[in-house]
Amino acid sequence: MASLSSVGRDPVPDQSTGLSHRHGNLVRRYTHAYGEWLRRHQSLIQKLQWLVVCVYLALVAVPAFLPLPGRTASMWNNLTVFAQFAFWGIWWPFVLVSMVLVGRTWCGVFCPEGALTEAVSRVGLGLAVPRWIRWKGWPFVAFVCTTVYGQMLSIYQYPMPVLLILGGSTAGAMVIGYLYGKNKRVWCHYLCPVNGVFGLLTKLAPVHFKVDQDAWTRSQKSGDLGVHAVNCAPLVAIRTMRGASECHMCGRCSDFRDAIACSPRSPDAEIVTVAGDTPRPWETLLIIFGLMGVATGAFHWSASPWYIDIKQAAATWLIDHDITWPLEIEPPWWILTHYPQQNDTMTLLDGGVLLFYIFATALILGVAISLGLAFAALCLGATSSADRFAARFHHLAQCLIPMAGCGVFLGLSATTVTLLKAEGMIIPFLPELREALLAGAFLWCVWLAFEVSGRRLAGVVTNGGQLQPAILVRRLGATLGVAAAAAIGVYSWALMFWIW
Ligand code: SF4
Repeated sequence: MASLSSVGRDPVPDQSTGLSHRHGNLVRRYTHAYGEWLRRHQSLIQKLQWLVVCVYLALVAVPAFLPLPGRTASMWNNLTVFAQFAFWGIWWPFVLVSMVLVGRTWCGVFCPEGALTEAVSRVGLGLAVPRWIRWKGWPFVAFVCTTVYGQMLSIYQYPMPVLLILGGSTAGAMVIGYLYGKNKRVWCHYLCPVNGVFGLLTKLAPVHFKVDQDAWTRSQKSGDLGVHAVNCAPLVAIRTMRGASECHMCGRCSDFRDAIACSPRSPDAEIVTVAGDTPRPWETLLIIFGLMGVATGAFHWSASPWYIDIKQAAATWLIDHDITWPLEIEPPWWILTHYPQQNDTMTLLDGGVLLFYIFATALILGVAISLGLAFAALCLGATSSADRFAARFHHLAQCLIPMAGCGVFLGLSATTVTLLKAEGMIIPFLPELREALLAGAFLWCVWLAFEVSGRRLAGVVTNGGQLQPAILVRRLGATLGVAAAAAIGVYSWALMFWIW
């Protein structure tokens, strides 16, 4: 095995990272060494995964069989409160952050569900993956369903919904692992409820496993002697891999055929240069209606005065029409929140208004954001006879990933803030930190739109089709459209943190 792959030896200053020749080489050397370390320490990683599995199963299962915590319970003396903080205060928000920093390393190195589904598939039936599992809409549908169901059951507050939803997801991962694929992670690739979200955020990661096609071809031509097959558990088509979305950063393919290396890249690179090649409508839906719509509604409703107004109006209307059963029926905890001993129950009316609020928020925000993107796509115009409006729309939607991810992080970290406050810990400069994050995400979206539109219009410039000022106007118009769409995201979070 070579000490450095051809990817790591590139003598040309790395345009994709924007680093100087010397610094670029240094960073490439370290990232390559990191990939090699992962490959060489697979057994250590497996042990780590089993440790995470044990901690995860204990935190998911045990609190569900303990009495609910009292008013004075704290994360230092109560396992249920500790598990609540571990899952919703630390794990979920910071796993999202890790996607942007180091790609899907969480999935490949730490994720208990990934480890379990792969382990079970080693001894499973090894059946071929059926068509219904390969449906491309699962990442969107699974994310929306688990987000909404989690809100209906108050998953952030109570341990039984955690066992039902997270435990159910883990059980599903194991069943799918047992049935389909051998030594694979079929669940992770197709069905995991956060697979789509992780895949989107990872596009912003500054590291990825880069495939050198020329080196691969050279290696094939020189014969396959000494080349060992790589088991890519999440079913990535390694040879043609250009982006990081599907790769779990497990490192097993590092230096394969002397053509693959963990490499640095510009955080903009994948969205600008790769994401536009294949339009992915389900990803667009996930960004616009999932992360910036349903997720926003799910975080908003408990703080929203509009939710109260809608509920009161609906209750008044029902009473005026002598229909009282929606105000009286309180379904069990696995349908709607039902903890009478905590004075926390939901009636059918509460649940109905909750669903209406979340989906109405998703629809209003989603349509408004889509209008901004449509304006941007129209400004960009067709740059060739094959350039369709839909392709431009989907590519420009990718520019909103920083805002979509930032919003979900802010919503989740609001739970972190609440839990820390209950422990007497106050985060200093919290409003300023939130403002800085929103401003940074907004500017990043605008910059991505400027870059994407520049790249798409490059063909027009090359062909000498239009005068430069006209092209600049088209580029600025497209950037403005995306900026308007991102501003809707900023406003939706400003409502929750500063206006209500
Ligand atoms: S492509 Fe597959 S084998 Fe290679 S690092 Fe990614 S997940 Fe691992």
